Amino acid sequence: MFGRFAPTPSSDFHIGNLRTALVAWLAARSSGRGFLVRIEDLDLARLPDADAIIGRQVGDLADLGLVHDQPVVRQSERTELYERSLSRIQDLVYECFCSRKDVAQATRAPHGTTPRYPGTCRDLSPAEKRHLRQSRQPCLRINAASAMAPITDLARGQYVGEVDDFVVRRADGVFAYNFAVVVDDAHQNVDQVVRGDDLLESSPRQAWLAAQLGLRVPVYLHVPLVLAPDGTRLAKRDQTVSLTRLRQAGISTQDVLSHLACSLSLAEESELVDLNTLVERFDPQRLPRQPWLTDPLSWAPHGTAQSRNKYE
Ligand code: GLU
Repeated sequence: MFGRFAPTPSSDFHIGNLRTALVAWLAARSSGRGFLVRIEDLDLARLPDADAIIGRQVGDLADLGLVHDQPVVRQSERTELYERSLSRIQDLVYECFCSRKDVAQATRAPHGTTPRYPGTCRDLSPAEKRHLRQSRQPCLRINAASAMAPITDLARGQYVGEVDDFVVRRADGVFAYNFAVVVDDAHQNVDQVVRGDDLLESSPRQAWLAAQLGLRVPVYLHVPLVLAPDGTRLAKRDQTVSLTRLRQAGISTQDVLSHLACSLSLAEESELVDLNTLVERFDPQRLPRQPWLTDPLSWAPHGTAQSRNKYE
């Protein structure tokens, strides 16, 4: 069986991505699993620089020593598999004509949380559907009947969430992340899913869908995010502080590994570590539960006490 890291090729990796990748690799290796890398490029494959970003992402993982055991898979090449899987649950799926705005208004979701779909289109008559199809292309949602689904997180234990009628295929025909990820994990023999804890809320949906498709439900490990010192999300910042940029600032890949290990309570400050030692020390229950606030450009290289001027 396998663990995996499944990045989106929207930009070069920032330190949060690298940290999650390290945890995914350690979780897989320390539990005797193989390790896979899957590129989640469902709606990004057509972007002109996707190939270059993927090349750099895969290169960063190799530089850190996070070796994968099978060729890298791209979701954009697996539409047929998703079609076949969707046909198995046709009777649970319905057409939805609501726009994002409709859903947001109907739920009056507080800012920042995912609106839960209130089921507006669940019981449309054939005549209503015919009428709506004239002006709008529908997406496909799955009827989850507000199921409550539990998941097992290796750090937190059990987490239960409500499953709303989430989108499985978008109106433009692209399969939704929540659908593709479930099909891929099962078909790639992944039974351990490690990712950022911003996706914790999605996990009960995915576990529930796996059960509907008759697929194995994986165990999860959600890793707290890395934030900038002012608490903002790294992904939302203008310029990614990538491994390449850190190297230019005099911070080696070994330094990065040591800082990451220290942030995960797997090493002492200034300790030089290697991956084999980290595999031995890894214990998901001892991972920090809070976000890590840091500015990588201010890190000192390991073995030195002085702090670097980031503009050097
Ligand atoms: N592609 C998602 C991301 O880059 C991760 C999804 C997953 O691991 O299930 O945040």
